[in-house]
Amino acid sequence: MYEKINVDLMNNSGIRVVDLRSDTLSKPTPEMREAMYRATVGDDVYGEDPTVSELEKKAAELLGKEEAVFVASGTMANLIAIMVHCNQRGSEIISGDYGHTFKYEQGGTAQIAGVHTAVIKNNEDGTFSIDDLRKKIRKNPDFHEPITSLIIVENTHNLCGGKVLPLEWLEKVQNVGQEHNIPVHMDGARMMNAAVYLNVPPSRLARDVDSVCFCLSKGLGCPIGAILAGTSSFIAKARRVRKAIGGGWRQAGTIAAAGLVALDKMIDRLQLDHNHAYQIAKAIYAMRSDNFKVDMATVQTNILLMYINRNKIQIKDLQRRLQTVLKTDSVKCSVRCMSLNYDCVRFTLYWEITDEDVQLACEKIQFVIKEYDEMLKESF
Ligand SMILES: *Cc1c(COP(=O)(O)O)cnc(C)c1O
Repeated sequence: MYEKINVDLMNNSGIRVVDLRSDTLSKPTPEMREAMYRATVGDDVYGEDPTVSELEKKAAELLGKEEAVFVASGTMANLIAIMVHCNQRGSEIISGDYGHTFKYEQGGTAQIAGVHTAVIKNNEDGTFSIDDLRKKIRKNPDFHEPITSLIIVENTHNLCGGKVLPLEWLEKVQNVGQEHNIPVHMDGARMMNAAVYLNVPPSRLARDVDSVCFCLSKGLGCPIGAILAGTSSFIAKARRVRKAIGGGWRQAGTIAAAGLVALDKMIDRLQLDHNHAYQIAKAIYAMRSDNFKVDMATVQTNILLMYINRNKIQIKDLQRRLQTVLKTDSVKCSVRCMSLNYDCVRFTLYWEITDEDVQLACEKIQFVIKEYDEMLKESF
C-alpha cells in the first residue's frame, strides 16, 4: 500500500523524530554523566567499590529487603533468581504465558538454569488465576514429576501494556506460595512505574515476594544495570551465581553512580511519562476509528498498546508510515513504535520525550489514522 514511500525522506531537516519503541532507548541524564565521571570506584568482585555498595544498600532499603546486588540486566537478575531458588535438578517454575522470562529471555530458564517452566494463561491485566496457580503446583510430586520450586509474577506487565498488578492479588499469590512452601519472585523490571501509579513506596510492592528485581536502564534512564534483592542468604547465593555466569564486574561504580541518581531523581518523575502515554491514548481514542483501537481503561503507566485491524492493515506498513514524513505531509514528525504480534503496536514513554514531542506524536498518529481510515473506506 505504501510501497511508493521513500523512507529516506525522514532524514530531511526540520523533522522531529519521536522514538517510542522502548524506554530502554533513554540515555543517561546530564546529572548521571556528571556522577559517573566523579564516581569513587574499586574492584567490586573484591567487594571494594564504594559506589556499588552504596547503590546496593539504598536499593535494598527502597525495596524493604535485607540486601541487594547490582547486576548487568533484568534478564541476568531473573536468571540468577531462578538459579538460586531452583537449586536442585528437576525443578520447575510457574509463570504466566505472557511472562518475560518465558517469552523473551531465550529460554535461559531451561537453557542455562536447567529449569522447567509450567505456564498459566495470563489475564489481560497481567495477573493469572489463583485457582489455576493452585492446580499447577505439584503437591508431593512422585518421581515422574518435576518439583515446583518458584512462582514468577511480572510488575508492571510488559506484554499486557504496562499493567500494574493489584496488591490484593500479590498477597493471594504469596499465600498460595506459603501454603506449599514455594517462594515468589517478582520480575519488577518496571516496578517503579507501578509504585508511582499506585502511589505506594516500592517496598510495599515487594512486601509479598521473596525476591524482586528492577531495571535501572528502562524508564529510570541509566545506561546499564538492574537490581536484584531479597534476604541476605539469598543475595549471598546470588553473588555466587552472578560470578559463575560472567556477571562479576570490576569498577562498576562508574555505572552504579548513575543508578544512585536514578533512585534519587528519576522515580517521582515517572508520573510525567504516564501522563504522556495517556495523552497519546486519548488522541487515538478521539479518532473513533474502526481500524485503530485503544482501551483507555488499561493505560496505566508508560506503555500504551494500539490495536489495529489486522485484516486490512499490515503492521510493517503502519510502522513505516508513522516513521515517514512525506514532502506533502502537514505534520513534520516521524514516530517510531514497536510491533507486538500482528495486530498491536507498542508506544513507550521515557524522560527524554517532552511535552512538545508528545504533542507532535499525537498529531502524527492522528494524521496517519485519518489517512488509513479514508483510504480503507475508498478501497472498500
Ligand atoms: C526488559 C524486561 C526484562 C529484561 O531486562 P533487560 O535489562 O532488558 O535484560 C525483564 N522483564 C521484563 C518484564 C522486562 O520488561
